[in-house]
Amino acid sequence: MSDGRMEAILEQAFARCADAFLALQQTELDLQRRVLDAFRKHRVATQHMAGTTGYGYDDIGRDTLEKVYAEVLGCEDALVRPHIVSGTHALGICLYGLLSPGDVLLSAAGKPYDTLDEIIGTAGNSRQSLRRLGVSYRQAELLPDGKPDIAEIRKQATEVRVVLIQRSRGYNWRPSLSLPEIRQIAEAVRDVSPNALIMVDNCYGEFVEAEEPSFYGADVLVGSLIKNIGGGLAPTGGYIAGKKVCIEAISDRWSTPGIGREVGSYEQGYRLFYQGLFLAPHVVSQALHTAIYAASVFDLLKYPVSPAFDAPRHDIIQAIEMGERERLLAFCEAIQETSPVDSFVTPEPWGMPGYQDQVVMAAGAFVGGASIELSADAPIKPPFVVYLQGGLTGAHGRLAVEAVVERLWISNKK
Ligand SMILES: *Cc1c(COP(=O)(O)O)cnc(C)c1O
Repeated sequence: MSDGRMEAILEQAFARCADAFLALQQTELDLQRRVLDAFRKHRVATQHMAGTTGYGYDDIGRDTLEKVYAEVLGCEDALVRPHIVSGTHALGICLYGLLSPGDVLLSAAGKPYDTLDEIIGTAGNSRQSLRRLGVSYRQAELLPDGKPDIAEIRKQATEVRVVLIQRSRGYNWRPSLSLPEIRQIAEAVRDVSPNALIMVDNCYGEFVEAEEPSFYGADVLVGSLIKNIGGGLAPTGGYIAGKKVCIEAISDRWSTPGIGREVGSYEQGYRLFYQGLFLAPHVVSQALHTAIYAASVFDLLKYPVSPAFDAPRHDIIQAIEMGERERLLAFCEAIQETSPVDSFVTPEPWGMPGYQDQVVMAAGAFVGGASIELSADAPIKPPFVVYLQGGLTGAHGRLAVEAVVERLWISNKK
């Protein structure tokens, strides 16, 4: 291989993560306790794992799963369904459920995730966009340091109905939002518009910290089950958790008024959803081990990273600036090669629906597209930032990060 210099760097990178790794254990313990308590309180039993068919009236497995989710997330109620096809779908039905013609939607953390553009109507030309349905949209940009601009939010929050806060960085070189920052936004909004609903795009944020945005003033949380909270086992689905009145309205949009949430069967049963939720504190912790190690390694190799290995984290994403298209592609190829599934595939940039730039995605996941499993995504544009996330085990993440370094080391001796 090399003269031993690469191995020395990897070793040093790992050793200096010790404190950060230790802190993860405490968070995991707190979360595991909360999840376990919720399972016990709602008397989760073997019968809840079973599937149902047809309309799904009185599906006790489904209904109990929703109670457990609500409990874990500190919310009154939750809609948790395999029929919610993705995080974007969950965010969409939440927005459509809460907003009516004439209402105003404000994004408090700058431009929301790319796949929301066509829902809001800032891109595309769908007749079903919020804009075409008469919902207007405002956006409070983040400050240059990536923090929320509270003065600007306050200014724009007059007569808003829904305020959208994206907790995670998404595909952006900006810090994820801390829970106190979310509270600050919520309080500023309520000062001006006491009846506004605070909706948090919680994708990639669940279980990164011992608490959730609902403890900090959020009315509704939205996320995907093939990210953090599905624990790597949920095969599909999304959730919306929050105030009961909100969940009722959103349920009418999810199915249709009159039947709302009372319907929806799932023949395969709910075991993977329960078991995934039970494992999620551990799996998210493992993903964070990988992110922290990657940050430490690439920092030592002099690549800009965000966040730093020892910085507080509010999502599972690790951004690394690769600087060159070729290095970015090499990064993604090495991640793909180190995957348990589809290791022989070469990731290619493509125009993914809902995204404005070409995107390259490396993932060899058991659950298709699951980004709680180890994955790397990047829009193909300077400065060629790669977003690394997931990893069901820290050991797999470590092997993959080391495979990336080895490939870059050989190709350019950086
Ligand atoms: C992943 C993600 C979404 C969209 O979820 P999909 O399941 O990919 O549709 C929205 N917002 C954020 C912050 C995300 O990370």
